[in-house]
Amino acid sequence: MNSPTVVDPPGCGCNECGDSQYVQLDRASARQIAHMVAGRMRNHTARELQVTVTTALPRGSESLLDGRTSRIEVRCGELSWDVTEYLGVSHAFFTQL
Ligand SMILES: [Zn+2]
Repeated sequence: MNSPTVVDPPGCGCNECGDSQYVQLDRASARQIAHMVAGRMRNHTARELQVTVTTALPRGSESLLDGRTSRIEVRCGELSWDVTEYLGVSHAFFTQL
C-alpha cells in the first residue's frame, strides 16, 4: 500500500481519505506533517500553520548565526506535531534560508 500523498482538511470525508490515498490533518502523523512542510506531501488543508523553531545558542555565542535548531513544532489550532526528528536539528536554521 502506498503512503498518502496529500494532507486534506481536518474531518475531510472524501473518497481519497477513505482509502488512505490522502490523510486528513487531524489524523496525520508527525512524520506526515514533516513531509508536508518539507514539500514532499501536498498541502490541501486550507489552514494556516504555525511553525515554531527553537534555536539553541552555544555558550559564548555572539550571533544568532551560531544557533542550532533544537526543536521544530507545527501547530494548527488545537493540533500540534513535534517534527524535530524528521527535519533534523544539526544545522543552523537561519543559514538554511
Ligand atoms: Zn480528503
